[in-house]
Amino acid sequence: FTANDQEVLMILANQVGIALHNADLYERATVDSLTRVYLRRHFFQRLQELIRKKPTSKDPLILIMLDIDHFKQINDTYGHPAGDQVLRELGQLLIQNLRDEDIPARYGGEEFAILLRGTTYTVGQQVAERIRSSAERFLFNAKKTPIQLTVSIGIGQRSPEENAEELLSKVDQALYRAKRGGRNRIEQAISSPPTSDSPEA
Ligand code: GH3
Ligand code: MG
Ligand code: MG
Repeated sequence: FTANDQEVLMILANQVGIALHNADLYERATVDSLTRVYLRRHFFQRLQELIRKKPTSKDPLILIMLDIDHFKQINDTYGHPAGDQVLRELGQLLIQNLRDEDIPARYGGEEFAILLRGTTYTVGQQVAERIRSSAERFLFNAKKTPIQLTVSIGIGQRSPEENAEELLSKVDQALYRAKRGGRNRIEQAISSPPTSDSPEA
């Protein structure tokens, strides 16, 4: 290597270092370190972006919300580190059941939200059922004390003119119906009645 070659290599190495550092910062700002799914803030930004792109009835925006049943009991019985391990493995289970273009996020402590795009509501329901049944069958924390759990799920499709908060709220209400209805089940969001000036009404 000439001195000149060395200088060029040094500059390149610096640039690669900066790029890696930026990628690392981006990941820390968008991905939950425990569950490896997106953070709530990033999820909300993506949801708003997708709504701006005007989803149609042919290319709908589907939201799934999921909450672990009786998770407090899992922490109380097996300890907080085991609870953390459950969350970690549930994050993996979600990722395994989704496509790369889906957007799974940790929405709260033991609550997850998933956005599906480029698919039908029927497929969305199948995805929700696959998640529900694989969670029910999976042995969490298997290397220490195996833990079984169930999840409750709400699912809904964005109606025309619905904003992010309205979509989240109706799916959250469905999730709470799933809880009240006995848990380990999926409930569908009830769409708000279309307004008279809505073109797709
Ligand atoms: P439900 O079936 O009604 O959802 O009951 P639940 O016990 O799952 O719900 P609740 O909201 O009463 O309890 C949620 C628990 O989740 C309480 C909180 O300590 C626990 N939790 C939240 N975040 C974490 C975390 O990061 N790690 C662990 N181990 N526990 C967490
Ligand atoms: Mg819960
Ligand atoms: Mg909860």
